[in-house]
Amino acid sequence: MNKKLYFFQSIHFKIALVFALLFLITFQIIGAYFVQQLKKDDLKTFKQQVELSSYVDNSLIDNLAKGDMKSANANIRDILEDINNSNVTQVQVVDTKGTIRGDSDVNSQSWVGQKTTDEDIKQVLYNGRTYTKLTYDKTDDKRYYVSITPLFSSSGNTNTLVGAVYLRASLEQVYSSLSNVTVIFFSAALIATGLGLFLAILISRAITQPIDEMKKQTARIARGDYSGQVHVYGNDELGQLAQAVNNLSVRVEEAQESSEAERRRLDSVLSHMSDGVIATDRRGNVIIMNEMASEALNIDAAEADGQSILDVLNIRGRYTLRDLLEKHDEIILNLSDDEHEQVLNAYFSLIQRESGFISGLVCVLHDVTEQKKIDRERRQFVSNVSHELRTPLTSMRSYIEALNDGAWKDPKVAPNFLKVTQDETDRMIRMINDLLSLSRMDSGTSKLDLELVNLNELYNYILDRFDMMLKTDTNDNKKAKKNYTIKRDFTRRELWVEIDTDKFMQVVDNIMNNAIKYSPDGGVVTCRLLETHNHVILSISDQGLGIPKKDVSHIFDRFFRVDKARSRAQGGTGLGLAISKEVIELHGGKIWVDSIEGKGSTFYISLPYEEYEGDLWDEN
Ligand code: ADP
Repeated sequence: MNKKLYFFQSIHFKIALVFALLFLITFQIIGAYFVQQLKKDDLKTFKQQVELSSYVDNSLIDNLAKGDMKSANANIRDILEDINNSNVTQVQVVDTKGTIRGDSDVNSQSWVGQKTTDEDIKQVLYNGRTYTKLTYDKTDDKRYYVSITPLFSSSGNTNTLVGAVYLRASLEQVYSSLSNVTVIFFSAALIATGLGLFLAILISRAITQPIDEMKKQTARIARGDYSGQVHVYGNDELGQLAQAVNNLSVRVEEAQESSEAERRRLDSVLSHMSDGVIATDRRGNVIIMNEMASEALNIDAAEADGQSILDVLNIRGRYTLRDLLEKHDEIILNLSDDEHEQVLNAYFSLIQRESGFISGLVCVLHDVTEQKKIDRERRQFVSNVSHELRTPLTSMRSYIEALNDGAWKDPKVAPNFLKVTQDETDRMIRMINDLLSLSRMDSGTSKLDLELVNLNELYNYILDRFDMMLKTDTNDNKKAKKNYTIKRDFTRRELWVEIDTDKFMQVVDNIMNNAIKYSPDGGVVTCRLLETHNHVILSISDQGLGIPKKDVSHIFDRFFRVDKARSRAQGGTGLGLAISKEVIELHGGKIWVDSIEGKGSTFYISLPYEEYEGDLWDEN
């Protein structure tokens, strides 16, 4: 998150402040030095200006050296009066004894002839060295320059101190001109600083504006918006940086797009895979789970996210994560419950970096339920076939053995024994034929020989045959055959359906035979034919044994028989309904049964049906 930037934290403010301070400090230093220098020069000039000329000095020396004090004082007064310097406020002449000999100030004439009290003058008279100072006079609030110069008279090589001149000059003019200069200077400095500040703001704006734009652009990039471009103002470092940000934006967008495309590709591969895939991090916590995996394990992908794979696969306790990392063969997960069967094979592989560092685990779940079921069914089938063949073969062998042992000579038993072996052989041939036609249908080599048939007619034809059989059987009266009545309940409409007549007749024959076979003597078999808007439904109801509820779902399985002994005694192979189901399904139809144990069963066949408009033969 971007924190809010206050103005005083911004580079903009900082640059402006630094510039302003720099200007101020520079002007301060230059100003201070300049004023100091100016003051020094001014004072120097001032001192030269107020200095008494050597002529005045010499005149004073001459008068001080004179014996006649009175006339000398009068001369000194004249000399002092002649000093015409507006800055000089007071000149006082003192002799070596410290007596004031003259004063330029008219108000101080009474001092003349008295001893001076000024310590500085005494000091100069004592050590003979010039003394100067700058003083401030509180009484008139003015600054003064004071110089006390010793006066020497020279005769030959010797200099003799004859007195000293005390000079006081007002510095007001110097200071006022200095302060004028200072004021001018500082106001110039202030204006310059202001201008500098303005320039600094302009410069810092020129720097911060592109930076600000770049900041905004990078924030947009971070949000995933690559549409903007930073304005490139020039070819300086900032311009190059802006260009670099623009390039970066394009690169990031490209990288983002390619990784997005990669992710989408991976997503679509994962979601279209027929196997379940789970990927985990190196701690074994789920990070990716595709739809198949979530379906197979019946767990929501979002719910599984972050959970340990051991819990997701429900194998905690049986395996540890280390086992999964080290194990390279599959684990069989049996998720079957009472209602449905489900067996998965889980294969594990490591996600490893080049360095060998394990960064995760991939688990591929392959649903082997169907395969297991097929395997089981195949085994069951082989065992069924062997069993079905062994029974007639064993019985045949015992009859043949008996015949071999001499029974062939017995005219009473021999024909009977031979009949049994023939029946068993017939049954085996029937079974083999049934198996062959089933196998052809399984392998898809059995083709339907379709023709458009009027189903009412065909159904009637089949049932007529059963009626005929009844008649011939009774006439024959060789054996007590079962009696039955066939009731027909057909729609009047002609139903033209495209079917393979032979195969379809085989199916109806089989169901009719069963209805008679598993019915009591004299039972009524009701045959119906009706149509819905896109199906024809054919049903055969009997008043027989019915089928126990638990067996209804298996009735169309190969070799399934409710009562094996009974079926076999009736010459059944247990394949009739299985073949019927295959044939009807090849026609795109359905076959099913409704049954109440002890009351009877109804077998239904539905076939897709399309009503033909107009006369059928018109189409040719
Ligand atoms: P089968 O050759 O044994 O008749 P089918 O495949 O035709 O073999 O039938 C399988 C089993 O279904 C039969 O053994 C029988 O137990 C049961 N069955 C079929 N039709 C009927 C029916 N109409 N009434 C009662 N049980 C039936």
